[in-house]
Amino acid sequence: MSDSRRISVVPALNPVESRGLGGPEQVIGSSVPAPSDNKHDFFGVVQGYLGAAARLIQLPSHIQSILSQPKNEVIVHFPVRMDDGQFRLFKGYRIQHNNVLGPYKGGLRFHHAASLDDFKALAALMTYKCALMNLPFGGGKGGIKFDPKLVSKSELSRITRRFVYALGSNIGPDYDIPAPDVGTNAQVMAWAMDAYMNTLGTFSKQSQIGVVTGKPVTSGGTRGREQATGQGVVHCIRLWAEQNRFDLSGKKLMVQGFGNVGSNVAVLLSHFGVSLVAVGDHTGYLTNAEGFNAYRLKEYVEQHGSISGYPNGQPISRAEFFAISADIFVPAALENQIHPEEAEALTVRLVAEGANGPCHPAGEAVLARRGIQVLPDILVNAGGVTVSYYEWVQNRRSEQWPLAEVESRLSDAMTDAYSRMQDFARRHECSFRLACYGVALERILAVYNEREIS
Ligand code: NAD
Repeated sequence: MSDSRRISVVPALNPVESRGLGGPEQVIGSSVPAPSDNKHDFFGVVQGYLGAAARLIQLPSHIQSILSQPKNEVIVHFPVRMDDGQFRLFKGYRIQHNNVLGPYKGGLRFHHAASLDDFKALAALMTYKCALMNLPFGGGKGGIKFDPKLVSKSELSRITRRFVYALGSNIGPDYDIPAPDVGTNAQVMAWAMDAYMNTLGTFSKQSQIGVVTGKPVTSGGTRGREQATGQGVVHCIRLWAEQNRFDLSGKKLMVQGFGNVGSNVAVLLSHFGVSLVAVGDHTGYLTNAEGFNAYRLKEYVEQHGSISGYPNGQPISRAEFFAISADIFVPAALENQIHPEEAEALTVRLVAEGANGPCHPAGEAVLARRGIQVLPDILVNAGGVTVSYYEWVQNRRSEQWPLAEVESRLSDAMTDAYSRMQDFARRHECSFRLACYGVALERILAVYNEREIS
């Protein structure tokens, strides 16, 4: 296929995305109407899982009630001077769900459709993820409602820095520690760290390097963080395959979202002989029956910003993507992607949730009926926060661990959490998702009981 063949832009699934930029990001002085709120109730979905798992372990109602809302919802509006000299007002969020196990921890998302409800859901997922992984962290999440692809690099730097100034002491290495998520990366973390450190006095600056994780290795990041989330996804797929006598070699993979998580999953699974036969991102979907070269596609996306225009793929629609003949599906884009229609179309044996919340509960019910196994987000994508914890520990000790040490610790941590999830699911005869919530809630409950918070 020639380079000139372009994939078509698919309509975004989420109705808010298709409305374009909404009110909270605006030119000062203009009055852009805010979008009406008829979108997916992501926080409600997470609350539903909390309720179901709480019943399983008979969680006292006052603990469920504490977990039913975030502790803090920080919303800031801050002006940034853009390259054309105009000021633009941005809306930033930092949602701190729970910190009974340790400092709030969770990513920063820069996305035009981000909303308070999404950040609340994502922050709650972080509480359960950190509890499940036995990390000394609570859950938080935040970000800014804008499209980072539509600004220059220097604008992105200024937006990030102004956001960090606006957050002020609402973040800190012992209080709330952001990391990369959709639309952010190691460079954004370096800017965030720099801005935070510049708010501090000379003597305390250097000890605050752990204010964010996912930094470039040269700026105090850890080896292995960039691929950690994808690596964790691959550990879970490998464990599931071993237990189900499912030989990975020669199997076909489909991936939705080819950013940090999706691209690393495809590359790492290629080492097991798994071939990527279909891929999609915000610009559209491609298939290659022979299998894409995951390394080359990753390089292409790093250079071009998306899969659009990649020469070795045939354009397909979103509906065709979900109906592709494959064995494993890794959603690694956004929440709320798999509804009954997509779940009926999928031909795979396994859905491993690289993204947070990709399955709508109605879609998940169809997958269960069809015997398609779902490995849930709070376990599957926990490799990122686990290695972020290793980065935070290294920052506190002024150490830099070899890659092999990070990888070996991550492998042990994922294997341990997987087996605790499985034990719980057997004991309670429940889904893996409820088992993840159950294990997490048991740990949180134990701490509330020991500390006699009542
Ligand atoms: P990213 O920004 O690097 O990549 C996101 C990908 O999703 C891009 O390829 C983008 O084009 C695609 N995408 C966006 N909108 C889409 C749409 N409407 N349809 C199809 N594709 C779309 O983000 P990431 O860090 O890879 O995160 C992906 C998912 O993984 C998110 O749900 C995130 O919360 C979750 N996650 C990320 C990490 C991490 O360490 N980065 C850790 C845990 C969970």
